Amino acid sequence: MSQKIPVAVLAATGTVGQRFVSLLEDHPWFEVTVVTASERSAGKRYAEAVNWVIPGEIPSSVADLVVEPTENPVEIIGNRAKLVFSALPSNAAREVEPDLPAAGYVLASNASALRMEPDIPLLIPDINAHHLSLIADQQAGRGWPGVVVTSPNCAVSSFVFPLKALNDAFGVTQAHVVTMQAISGAGYPGVASFDILDNVIPFIKGEESKVETEPLKILGIVQDGQVVPAGFPVSAQVNRVPVMDGHLAAMSFGLKSRASLDDVKAAIANYKALDSVRALPSSPEQLIIVREEEDRPQPRRDRDAQNGMAISVGRIQPCSVMDYKLVVLVHNTLRGAAGGAILNAELLAAEGYLGEKLQLQEK
Ligand code: NAP
Repeated sequence: MSQKIPVAVLAATGTVGQRFVSLLEDHPWFEVTVVTASERSAGKRYAEAVNWVIPGEIPSSVADLVVEPTENPVEIIGNRAKLVFSALPSNAAREVEPDLPAAGYVLASNASALRMEPDIPLLIPDINAHHLSLIADQQAGRGWPGVVVTSPNCAVSSFVFPLKALNDAFGVTQAHVVTMQAISGAGYPGVASFDILDNVIPFIKGEESKVETEPLKILGIVQDGQVVPAGFPVSAQVNRVPVMDGHLAAMSFGLKSRASLDDVKAAIANYKALDSVRALPSSPEQLIIVREEEDRPQPRRDRDAQNGMAISVGRIQPCSVMDYKLVVLVHNTLRGAAGGAILNAELLAAEGYLGEKLQLQEK
């Protein structure tokens, strides 16, 4: 591209916001021109406002940007960005996010506020790129010149990948998921060390209902401008565990058609996104890595696979209650948050929602 697309990052100082800033450094299509956060940070240089908690240095192109307030994002951003990434807490997101597509911006949000709206894609390009067909109805129904797409809950971004592969190959009848979610999933400073060290907390507010409902929308089909959710139940129990990054989920599932253990492993290992999605800059070479070791995947050893954009699956074995069970891992702030939202924006750019369609390179 001769000129990069200017982007704003809302809540750029948080755990997910920092991942956006880091991943967008040297991005081939996008460049950060506006950063916002809360009143606490507004008016300070980014480097001064942020408590940088992720690996690497603060990108020099962002360090000196002045952090702006978020209350009136349309006024704040003006014509300095076309594309907006949101890492806002959901209350703030609910208030300000709809203003952006209404004013013509393209918004890729990580917050939960708009995820379950029937005309708003809950997008994972490797799974449901066809949900972009909702956008025409979104724009017509709401009178929006812009667009909004959302990314799923970070724990959902793990098991929904093998679930998609299994549902395509055999049909899924039911699934039970137990998550072990990292501390960074709670943002910074997140859970008090006094509560999480030497401990597991079997509760994360509002999480179980998201983990049970979001996968069904992601795996649903589009009919008459709305998503008809997949028709099997998901039951979830969530836990916060003393791991820094990487959400692990143990899942048991039933299948409609008979499948051998080898069939199940092959369906998961061979699952591929559409070629047009695989060509996007942030798309991993290998989407799902099936591990045969008896003790993998593990958060510390496997979360960074393929720059944190791959999903690792292991311990695939028969289940004496349902048909099979497995363990799956996602990097919650990369594929499960900022990396996933950047991939969403790349798909929108490639499909022409940010201007002329971009030419994809063979990888
Ligand atoms: P976090 O570390 O607590 O960061 C919160 C960010 O929001 C900071 O930049 C903060 O700015 C800003 N903020 C707080 N109140 C605000 C307000 N009223 N107006 C504008 N900005 C405000 O949280 P996080 O983990 O990055 O999560 C951000 C969002 O991503 C949440 O909606 C979360 O559900 C979602 N998400 C998180 C993960 C994950 O793994 N962490 C994964 C998927 C989705 P200051 O620095 O100025 O206070």
